[in-house]
Amino acid sequence: MNKPLPNSIEARDVAYHLHSYTDARKHEEAGPLIVEKGEGIYVEDNNGKRYIEGMAGLWSVALGFGEQRLIDAATRQMQKLPYYHTFTHKGHGPSAELAEKLVNMAPVPMSKAYFTNSGSEANDTAIKLIWYRSNALGQPERKKIISRVKGYHGVTLAAASLTGLPNNHRSFDLPIEGVLHTTCPHYRTMKKEGESEQDFAKRCAVDLEELILKEGPETIAAFFAEPVMGAGGVIVPPDGYWEAVQPVLKKYDILFVADEVICGFGRTGNMFGTETYKLQPDIMTLSKQLSSSYMPVSALLVNEKVYGPVADESHKIGVWGHGYTGSGHPVGAAVALENLKIIEERDLISHVRDISPQFMKRLKQLGEQDMAVEARGIGLIGAVEFAHEKAPDVGAVGGRINRAMQERGLISRNMGDALAFCPPLIISEAQVNEMFDIAEAAVADVA
Ligand code: PLP
Repeated sequence: MNKPLPNSIEARDVAYHLHSYTDARKHEEAGPLIVEKGEGIYVEDNNGKRYIEGMAGLWSVALGFGEQRLIDAATRQMQKLPYYHTFTHKGHGPSAELAEKLVNMAPVPMSKAYFTNSGSEANDTAIKLIWYRSNALGQPERKKIISRVKGYHGVTLAAASLTGLPNNHRSFDLPIEGVLHTTCPHYRTMKKEGESEQDFAKRCAVDLEELILKEGPETIAAFFAEPVMGAGGVIVPPDGYWEAVQPVLKKYDILFVADEVICGFGRTGNMFGTETYKLQPDIMTLSKQLSSSYMPVSALLVNEKVYGPVADESHKIGVWGHGYTGSGHPVGAAVALENLKIIEERDLISHVRDISPQFMKRLKQLGEQDMAVEARGIGLIGAVEFAHEKAPDVGAVGGRINRAMQERGLISRNMGDALAFCPPLIISEAQVNEMFDIAEAAVADVA
């Protein structure tokens, strides 16, 4: 990118906007890519250049850009009731309907839905519910939470603590006390010499159990995990992983929170990652594809084991003292309802299953290119990891490939040296080929 021209939107952005996940000083030099509009799987910048949005924004725009029915649903709700809250026995149609819809869609028995505005808030709220429950059950010592190295659960204080990535802790004085991290289930990088995938999966469960025993099982409240790790590098669990880990949680009566913020609503080829991996979570956190990110909407589903004690405690105290101004926002809820309706009407889950073999074939082919180390994925989410002996710093080659892809009209995201692919679920087979043709050419540019 060139230095922004004076008074351009780029220059004003540089002057006034502190960006997320950005080197602020570098941004002052390079400026932003200003995205102006979008249609289907494509977005266009303010110079008229078109890109495939290979990340569906931030793993989230399931229906692609410009879906008129979502725009109409938002407009209708804006006209009728643009805002109302859900505090203190108040409610409205869209939030009640969305709660009913989500509880009924859940692949495991769930009792209630609670609404938040972001994945981070959903995970923070889950921790607060879990702590409140422990107190309600007369187990105030049961407060520690375990998540995983390279897991991603957001950036608010507690969610960032759950996140197991150095950049979310470094210089923030995180994690907070009582949040612990267990082994990252990445077979290629974490396996021992000669260890099979199944044996590695079992060892992950042993590591988890050892951590629980070291800390004292009576102090561990919950385990948070994404069915497939997303922002940590798209790490697909090794064979047998969930079969080995879940019994450990059951054995010590530890709540299981499935962070479905990326996997939820079709990404892995089922409605939820929980179905793909036969999980039995007590809480599911949902966001992103819940509204295709047209509105910031997120939710938690909680089962009776969680809801019951929380409800009793709130009755005893007189309040479940938690809530966001935007919890269950009517416009967000209306958009989410319409989004779910479209996913079902168009049978996008079958579409993901139909397209996935070609997506995986092209992902694996990219993984056979020069410099590629590993290709991994499932459904319509994947990553290819690269290494280059002349660019040994973490992220150096990944950053170069990412820039080359952008030059050629493909927006991806490099997590270190792993390039992620997570397109809108509506992508066609021809568009999958278009995306990977660009990716291959970009890799050749850098090689
Ligand atoms: N959980 C997962 C699995 C995520 O991928 C993300 C965001 O990428 C979050 C939580 C946090 O969501 P948000 O950025 O909306 O706070």
